[in-house]
Amino acid sequence: MATDSWINETLYAAWGQRFRVKRELARVQSDFQDIVVFESETHGRVMLLDGVVQITEGDEFVYQEMITHVPILAHGAAKRVLIIGAGDGGVLKRVLQHRGVGKAVMVEIDGEVVRLSKEFLPSIGGNAWGDPRAEVIIGDGIDYVRVAPAESFDVIIVDSTDPIGVGEVLFTDEFYANAARILSPRGLIVNQCGVPFMQAEELHETSRRRAKSFPDNWAYVAAVPTYVGGFMTLGWAAKDASCRAVATDEIRRRAEASGVLGTTRYWTPEIHTGAFNLPPYIAENLPGA
Ligand code: SAM
Repeated sequence: MATDSWINETLYAAWGQRFRVKRELARVQSDFQDIVVFESETHGRVMLLDGVVQITEGDEFVYQEMITHVPILAHGAAKRVLIIGAGDGGVLKRVLQHRGVGKAVMVEIDGEVVRLSKEFLPSIGGNAWGDPRAEVIIGDGIDYVRVAPAESFDVIIVDSTDPIGVGEVLFTDEFYANAARILSPRGLIVNQCGVPFMQAEELHETSRRRAKSFPDNWAYVAAVPTYVGGFMTLGWAAKDASCRAVATDEIRRRAEASGVLGTTRYWTPEIHTGAFNLPPYIAENLPGA
């Protein structure tokens, strides 16, 4: 039954989306942010952090597939993956799909996001939480990368909130310098980097910072319906530029070997290689553009 209660996203002052609410499932003020989980009329269950859409059951597959499968398959031999943020468990679930991954460490600052995701969004994380290869740490990602040993990871995935509040530290020179230190010689890092139509500065500024620590800097795109404003970007920084240039057929071969091919609803080998081809309004925000 349609209700007349709506939730308006707070991301932009003068533009945004709203959801008609079937029922509110949780509203918690954690030590870090305001967390709301509700049943929407149109997108299944939705989580907001400080009023900003983080994930919906309806379209989470787009984002989670692209932020996870692209870096791991581009690397080609990732065994140790560090995930920062991603408290809903969706990235962890997809990292563990890859047969070659032996260890996935997830560092999420807010234990309440994990608790509420397990309770109200169980389909997102699935069985990942109990996987013997998974290690879930409740802590600040900046602290973790400061002390992690050199060359201890092959891929880093930063699925954080935007660079305001607790997420801000994950977009700093210090963070990227430590990320480079703890990545192996062919290591690479990807991060949630906003919707350039509305957040071009986020892509421009963080790409400039990544370029100080990584030789290959770019971005790739995904069309996530509830990240309003057109393409959203995943920031890309790699020690080995060849990772971004892997041919579609090789990506397909790797996806088959890793057990991912045929399990996705957005990612395909063609979408993978095509996502790095950026429209000028996005590419112009990257170093050297
Ligand atoms: N897909 C979403 C997006 O694109 O905005 C992000 C989803 S995920 C829920 C974002 C997570 O990053 C949140 O759970 C938040 O608590 C976490 N986070 C923010 N800052 C962090 C930090 N400094 N260290 C670790 N996790 C952090």
